[in-house]
Amino acid sequence: MNEIIPNPILVAKNLSRHYHVGRGFLKGTATVKALNDVSFELFAGKTLAVVGESGCGKSTLARQLTLIEEPSSGHLIIDDVDIATAGKTALKVLRPKVQMVFQNPFASLNPRKTIGDMLSEPLLLNTELNAEERKARVHEMLKTVGLRPEHYHRYPHMFSGGQRQRIAIARAMMLQPAVLVADEPTSALDVSIQAQILNLFMDLQDQLGTAYVFVSHNLAVVEHVADDVMVMYFGSTVEYGPKQTIFEQPLHPYTRALMSATPAIRAENRREKIKLVGELPSPINPPTGCTFHTRCPYANTACKTAVPELRPFAGRMIACHRIEEIQ
Ligand code: SF4
Repeated sequence: MNEIIPNPILVAKNLSRHYHVGRGFLKGTATVKALNDVSFELFAGKTLAVVGESGCGKSTLARQLTLIEEPSSGHLIIDDVDIATAGKTALKVLRPKVQMVFQNPFASLNPRKTIGDMLSEPLLLNTELNAEERKARVHEMLKTVGLRPEHYHRYPHMFSGGQRQRIAIARAMMLQPAVLVADEPTSALDVSIQAQILNLFMDLQDQLGTAYVFVSHNLAVVEHVADDVMVMYFGSTVEYGPKQTIFEQPLHPYTRALMSATPAIRAENRREKIKLVGELPSPINPPTGCTFHTRCPYANTACKTAVPELRPFAGRMIACHRIEEIQ
């Protein structure tokens, strides 16, 4: 009997987001290409980690996926519905299916609302549950994320950073979304708390089958949570594939540099350090050709003029003209 392969819960096809920004007095506007032709598929219960330095486009991608912003072009398909052609009613149904957890749990919770009110709100707006039923669901969720019933009546300032992130996760999970986008969800927390929060994410995924897009610059976190990894540089994907393939043998010079900068606990995993030269170039004046050529130790003349295509190579997708020579 043939195995039935489920449809991906989220598909991004050539997703781009460009912004028009002023250059200054009498200088007109410039186009900042924050996201360029990003494509991937995400299945229920799986995690895609999006990695790169700040300014690489990962937070812009998160905003498109959560419908906070509209893409400039490309397609975003959630649960088989293309948001480009979805009407108002369809969008209203789609929005609760993708939720977000932000980096800073101190800023993401309303200081004037009790935890009970905050967690009830999504149910009040999106379901027909009565007050009693909403309260019961909130208590159930508090327990699921490791908080206690008495926390229901407390305010955000009465909690530690780790507890606040548990509350933020609970709020995002109240409507049992199909996709959760987490933007650096542990980077504002003490190292001792980070592992607990990551384990909570993993437990919830096991219980509820939610698909995650995990935006992070921390490769140790990515190694812990991801099924697939997408490495972004300057708004574009430079390497994308299964986590194991990419962690065992990173190939793109940028991925190699990122990985070599991550301290490995086990000696056999330590990599030769590859130092990136220079800063990220200005998004207002991007380099021609491969945008990484200004920092790449392997750049040649062709790299400065031709944009490398994202193409299959060694079990992953990669965008580098010289990958056959330099691996
Ligand atoms: Fe480096 Fe050229 Fe490959 Fe870009 S295309 S990563 S500049 S070798």
